[in-house]
Amino acid sequence: MKLVLATSNKGKVKEIKELCKHYEVIPYSELIDEFEIIEDADSFKENALIKARAVYKALNDKNVIVMADDSGISVDALDGAPGIYSARYGGESATDKDNLNKLINDIKEKDLQSSPAHYTAAIAIVADGIEKTVHGWMYGTAVTKAQGEGGFGYDPMFIPLGYDKTLGELDNEIKKKLSHRSKALYLASKILKNL
Ligand code: IMP
Repeated sequence: MKLVLATSNKGKVKEIKELCKHYEVIPYSELIDEFEIIEDADSFKENALIKARAVYKALNDKNVIVMADDSGISVDALDGAPGIYSARYGGESATDKDNLNKLINDIKEKDLQSSPAHYTAAIAIVADGIEKTVHGWMYGTAVTKAQGEGGFGYDPMFIPLGYDKTLGELDNEIKKKLSHRSKALYLASKILKNL
């Protein structure tokens, strides 16, 4: 079954491909020109739906299934920030590194070296006459010392619950088992099976 991803975020595409081995997973940018999608909703769920709907409409093909992931990190000491603003926390054209550095500085400004935090992933599936969403979460601690090169985004500053190393340092297989995205994808796979 052909599954089109409404993202071109390399980190997400890599993880989703690894976790959806039974499907032919194609980023939409391999089928049509990339275009700007304004994610202006106030929840992960609605933003995931905006992306999946926009790509489904642009593809104009009733035989495709489009899947979108909207995700981010929420830090307790910052009242849940950056949350849905995780991708542009350091500004409109911020890189993953700019975002990570801003989050580290914001936690330090609270005179803290760490804070409980969690990742959320909302996955939207849009196909002919179908719109579904599922969620997954991963809990842990956001720390002000980034360590390791693994994963992407905020992973070098996130220690999952039950571990003493960041996702940047831990083996990729551990993230696959624990992650917000793998939990949401497990639920998404149940929906995909019935399509
Ligand atoms: P989105 O493309 O609007 O969903 O942006 C999600 C942003 O949240 C990414 O750019 C990352 O900064 C962050 N993020 C989401 N999932 C992860 C993850 O698994 N690891 C690290 N950062 C993540």
